[in-house]
Amino acid sequence: MTETTHTPHRVLVTGSAGFIGTSFVHRALDDDRELSIVSLDALTYAGTRANLEGMPHAARHTFVEGDICDAALVAKLLRAHDIDTVVHFAAESHVDRSITGPSAFVQTNVVGTFTLLEEARQHWLGAVKRSDVRFHHISTDEVFGSLGRHDPPFHETTRYSPNSPYSASKASSDHLVRAYFHTYGLPVSITNCSNNYGPYQHDEKFIPTVIRSCLAGKAIPVYGDGSNIRDWLYVDDHVRAILDVVRHGELGETYNVGGDNECANLDIVRQLCALMDEASPSGAPHARLITFVTDRPGHDWRYAVDASKIRTLGWAPRETFESGLRKTVAWYVAKRAT
Ligand code: NAD
Repeated sequence: MTETTHTPHRVLVTGSAGFIGTSFVHRALDDDRELSIVSLDALTYAGTRANLEGMPHAARHTFVEGDICDAALVAKLLRAHDIDTVVHFAAESHVDRSITGPSAFVQTNVVGTFTLLEEARQHWLGAVKRSDVRFHHISTDEVFGSLGRHDPPFHETTRYSPNSPYSASKASSDHLVRAYFHTYGLPVSITNCSNNYGPYQHDEKFIPTVIRSCLAGKAIPVYGDGSNIRDWLYVDDHVRAILDVVRHGELGETYNVGGDNECANLDIVRQLCALMDEASPSGAPHARLITFVTDRPGHDWRYAVDASKIRTLGWAPRETFESGLRKTVAWYVAKRAT
C-alpha cells in the first residue's frame, strides 16, 4: 500500500440531512476552517433540513435539494463549486423498508452511486487527470452477512454475503466504487461501519424507538427474543473515522470501522431503560414496557467488526458504549422538551 495524504477543500456531501451526514457536516466544518461544503440531499422521509440550520459555520455551507441520480445536477455541482472531495452518505438505509419496498434501494444505493462515480470520473479524469481529489463511499458491515456465536469478526477480506435488499444494494455500490478505482483510476476509499447511534437519528431506528417509547410510556418493541447481536459505534466516532480515511487512507482501500461493543439487542434496551429511569423518571421502571414482537424475516443474527486496520491510521473511538448511550439519551430527552 502506498502512503497518501489528501486535504479536502471543497467537499460535496451527499445525504447530509440524514443521521450520519448531519454529524459529518457539523464536525467537518468545525474541524477545518479552510473547508467548505456543498450538501446534496433529496430530503426523503429520512432527511431533515432543520438538522443543518443555525450552524456556526453557515457561511461555508451550501444546501442543495436534489437527487444523486440526477446526473446533470451532480455534474453542475462538481463544476460550479470546483469540488475536490465527494463524501457519499446518501442512501435508503432502513432494512425493514428494503424488505417491503426494495426498488428505491436499488435506485438510490446502486444507480445513485453509479451516477456520482460516473460524473466524478468525467469531471476529474477528463482531459486533465487530477490526483488531488477523493471519492469516499460510506458503507456498512451488513454487506458481510451474518456471523455465528464463535465466528471471528468481519475483516476487510471477509467474503461479501449480503442477506437483505438493503445490504445487497450497499454491496453492489461498494463493488462499483472498487471497479471505478481499478478500471479508471478514480481515487476512491470505502469505510464499512457497524451500527451507529447518537443525535439526529431517524425516529424509526432501533435506539430512537426505544427512547421514544419510554418517553411516551408505550410498548418497547423488541424483535424475536432480543438475542440478535450488533456492534455499536457513537456517530461522532464514525465521522472522525471517515475524516481520517479521507485525509490519510490508502487509495482503493476499504476500512472496517467499529466500536468493539458487541451487544445483544435486549441488553441495549435494558441499558436504555435504566438510563431513562434516571433521565426521565416515570414512577415505574421503563423496562416494564419491553414487548417481544415477531422477528424480521431473514434477520441477521450477529455482526462484529475487526477495526484493527483503521486503527493503524491513528483512529480510535473516543466514546465508550456507556458514555455514548448517556449522551444519546440526554440529546433525545432535551429534544423532546423543546
Ligand atoms: P439516513 O437514512 O438517516 O439518511 C440518508 C439521507 O440520504 C437522508 O437525508 C435522505 O434524504 C438522503 N437521500 C436518500 N435518497 C437520496 C437520493 N436519491 N438523493 C439524495 N439524497 C438522498 O441514513 P444514515 O443512517 O445517516 O446512513 C448514511 C450512510 O451510512 C448510508 O449510506 C448507510 O448505508 C451508511 N451506514 C449507516 C449506518 C447506521 O448505523 N446508520 C451504519 C453503517 C453505514
